[in-house]
Amino acid sequence: MSDEKKKRGTEELPLLQKVVSLCKRRGFVFQSSEIYGGLKSAYDYGPLGAELKRNVMQEWWRSMVHEREDVVGLDASIIMSPKVWEASGHVSGFSDPLVDCKLCKARFRADKAPQVPKGSEVTYRREGKTLKAVADRGYVCPECGGVELSEERAFNLMFKTNLGPIESPDSTVYLRPETAQAMFVNFLNVQQTYRLKVPFGIAQQGKSFRNEITVEHFIFRSCEFEQMEMEFFCEPEESDKWLEYWKNERFEWYVRLGAKRENLRLRAHEKDELAHYARGCYDVEYLYPWGWDELEGIANRTDYDLRKHQEASGKKLTYFDPNRPNPETGKPGVHFLPYVIEPAAGATRATLMFLLDAYHEEPPSEARAEGRVVLRLHPRLAPIKVAVLPLVKKDEWLQGKSREIVKEFWKSSVNAFYDEKDAIGRRYARQDEAGTPFCITIDGETRENDTVTIRTRDDMRQERIKVEEAVDVVLRKMRE
Ligand code: ATP
Repeated sequence: MSDEKKKRGTEELPLLQKVVSLCKRRGFVFQSSEIYGGLKSAYDYGPLGAELKRNVMQEWWRSMVHEREDVVGLDASIIMSPKVWEASGHVSGFSDPLVDCKLCKARFRADKAPQVPKGSEVTYRREGKTLKAVADRGYVCPECGGVELSEERAFNLMFKTNLGPIESPDSTVYLRPETAQAMFVNFLNVQQTYRLKVPFGIAQQGKSFRNEITVEHFIFRSCEFEQMEMEFFCEPEESDKWLEYWKNERFEWYVRLGAKRENLRLRAHEKDELAHYARGCYDVEYLYPWGWDELEGIANRTDYDLRKHQEASGKKLTYFDPNRPNPETGKPGVHFLPYVIEPAAGATRATLMFLLDAYHEEPPSEARAEGRVVLRLHPRLAPIKVAVLPLVKKDEWLQGKSREIVKEFWKSSVNAFYDEKDAIGRRYARQDEAGTPFCITIDGETRENDTVTIRTRDDMRQERIKVEEAVDVVLRKMRE
């Protein structure tokens, strides 16, 4: 691990543990099938997590599809014809190099193992003894540091199943390992029905599945996860320009939703790191507790995918541009395969990033005798936007008024939450941990002059406002 990777590393590793524990305690994320001992690398999103993930995805859809004239949506099936995955290269090439450690029996991915210079001498501990050996592979076992390793084996990441009642090679189908291919095979369907002109994009969100061997870092990597991908079809000569555009656009999207700029960076792929078909690629990286790591990839995939599907299906996938001059005749009108810029993000990975970035522990202060844990989520991402709290429990008028206010929020599609359990301080603390940007308290004065107290999560300021202003105050904040 380089020094830079260590930056937010071991000394702060508890941050991940704190977030994992908050997620479990407050119902953001649970281990899947927990009562049966859990399932490796599978997670369930509880009441708060389901809202948060949904909001992340909704914000992506809003900025990528609704608020643009040049991108449209798609919702394709998860199981597609196996021919799609043969043509795309996933059947033959979508694999990880898998290695077994002969000493400690750990199984790991060669490309994710600790890297060391080839031929260098390494020391490791085995049964209480310190041993020395030469690392001729360029990496060591991540568990014991040893170098007695099996050959690398290619392991396909796609989950296989069968379509129909009979299990045979002819009935084999795959769970999609990415959402992107549906956009390529539907390229002309979408372009023609919507009469779109290049440049334009097709966006899709949904579940993808990969039989991941390395299980690491909570929901950062899971076998079933949610992706948010967009394929932007453009003229080949313009593809470098669009790659620059989309990498900046995607970076700023995270910042606009509250991620700290200093915890994000764009990293250009080195030539030897690029997929063979890609002309350029950037990763948006985040400074996770274990170091800089991928959040999203933005790649110039050239016309590779359309070309492959055109060859394999025998169907023309070219786009006709009536204005662009034909290089052969010099006259306007040419058929060509567009290049594709692909911003590919993970919704579950982004959810983890927003949780890590929002987590704050505040020590006791003048305003509060006790410290607090607060999730400073952007109001658009917050699972609950406003909690409505009658000051005392056993007052029917306060309860009725509070529920009326909750309904007013619902009418404006604002997720408001009613809570009357425990003392008001405890209720505020619960909402701070859930990331709720506002709490509205209804008390005796409300009865007299129709005002309520609104408390802001981040600075804990309390203000009295008219009941009828409440919805607008919250909506205004969400628009910022
Ligand atoms: P990695 O190198 O981490 O395996 P990748 O480069 O293979 O990831 P892509 O195929 O580019 O990932 O997928 C696009 C995005 O989908 C990633 O940036 C990530 O946010 C998300 N993603 C990919 N695999 C997983 C996974 N197993 N769990 C959660 N999110 C994932």
